[in-house]
Amino acid sequence: MSTHYDVLGVSRDASGEEIKKAYRKLARTLHPDVNPGEDAADRFKAVTHAYEVLSDPQKRRVYDTTGNENGTDNGFGGGSYSGQGFAFQDIFETFFGAGGGGQGGPASRVRRGQDALISVRIDLRDAVFGVNKKLEVDTAVVCPTCEGSCCREGSHPVRCDICGGSGQVQRAVRSILGQVMTSAPCGSCEGFGTVIKDPCNECNGQGRIRSRRSLTVKVPAGVATGTRIQLSGQGEAGPAGGPSGDLYVEIRVNNDPTFVREGDDLHATLNIPMTSAALGTELSLETFDGQQEIDVKPGTQPGEIITLRGLGVTHLRGYGRGDLLVHLQVETPEKLDAAQEDLLRQLAKLRGEHNHPGKLAAGGGVFAKLRERLGSL
Ligand SMILES: [Zn+2]
Ligand SMILES: [Zn+2]
Repeated sequence: MSTHYDVLGVSRDASGEEIKKAYRKLARTLHPDVNPGEDAADRFKAVTHAYEVLSDPQKRRVYDTTGNENGTDNGFGGGSYSGQGFAFQDIFETFFGAGGGGQGGPASRVRRGQDALISVRIDLRDAVFGVNKKLEVDTAVVCPTCEGSCCREGSHPVRCDICGGSGQVQRAVRSILGQVMTSAPCGSCEGFGTVIKDPCNECNGQGRIRSRRSLTVKVPAGVATGTRIQLSGQGEAGPAGGPSGDLYVEIRVNNDPTFVREGDDLHATLNIPMTSAALGTELSLETFDGQQEIDVKPGTQPGEIITLRGLGVTHLRGYGRGDLLVHLQVETPEKLDAAQEDLLRQLAKLRGEHNHPGKLAAGGGVFAKLRERLGSL
C-alpha cells in the first residue's frame, strides 16, 4: 500500500514547502475541471487527502509514528475541518490565482522599465544621407547613490510584519462551498513581502531617479516623417534596479525651401528665361550632391522635366537612391524696353505669330504628363 508520501511523490523528510509544491503541481493536473477522467478524480481525492494529513504538523506526526492517521482523527469523517479549509484555499489559489499578487508569493520590486518615445527633427538633407543626431532625453535612470537597491547605505529591506513576508493577506469569503479563505496583496508592504525602513535619500526608495542624459542616435539614410528607430535598453530604468525599457525615436523631417520629397524622389523647379527655353542652354545647379551640370535643350516647353538619376533620397530598405526631377518653368519677360519690344515684334512677324487665331485645345502633352506624375502631391 502506498503511503501519503508516495501519493505526493515526496520523500519522508520533505519540508512543508516541498509538500505544498508537490500538491499544487498534482492538483493542477488532476483537478476534475481539468482532467475529467474517473481515474483522475480518484487520484485527486487521494492526493488532496495525503496533503491534508502531511500539511498539518500534528497530523503528520501521528501519521509518521503510527503509520495511519487514525490515532486521534478518523480521516475524512473526523471532527476537525481545519485541514480541509487549508486545502480549499490552496485549490482556490491553484485555479484562480492568489488575488492579483501572482502565484501566492510576494511580488518583486524589480520590474522592467517602460518604453519611452521622443521625436526628433531633422533636415531633408539628413534624411537623404543619414545623420548622427545628438539627443537630450528625460528618463528614469538607476539611482547612482543606492545603485537600485532602494535602501540607504548599510541597510536592506526587512520582512513585512503584517504578512510575514508572503506579500499576501488572507481573507475569509463566503461562497457556494461555504466559507473559504482567499488572499489579497498586503496593504502594508504593497505585496512585496518586505518593507524598506531606511530608504535611500536620493531616490526616496524607488531605486531610480529622473535625469536628463544625452545620447547619439544613428539616423539611417532614407527615413521619413513617422519612421521610428528603436534603441534597446535606452528607455526608462525599471524600479529597484530593474532592466530598462526601450527608447523609440520618431523622426520628423523639416520642409526644405527648395526640394519637395515624393517617395524617394525629389522635385524642384527651375525657372529659365523664354530665350533660354527657345535657344537652349547649359546650367549648373546646386543639389544635395553639389553642383550638377544640366543641358536645357533648344525648344524646351514649360513643365518639361529633366531627371537627374540617383540624386534623390537613399532607399531605406535595399540599395540605391531615388531621382531628382527638375521641373522647368519658362519665364516670360514682364518689362520690355523699346529696342527689345521692336525685336520681339520682328520675331513674331517672321514666325507668322502676330495674328494668333486664339483657339482652345484639350490639355495634353507635357501638361498631362506632369499632372499624372504629380497627381498625388
Ligand atoms: Zn537611491
Ligand atoms: Zn506585507
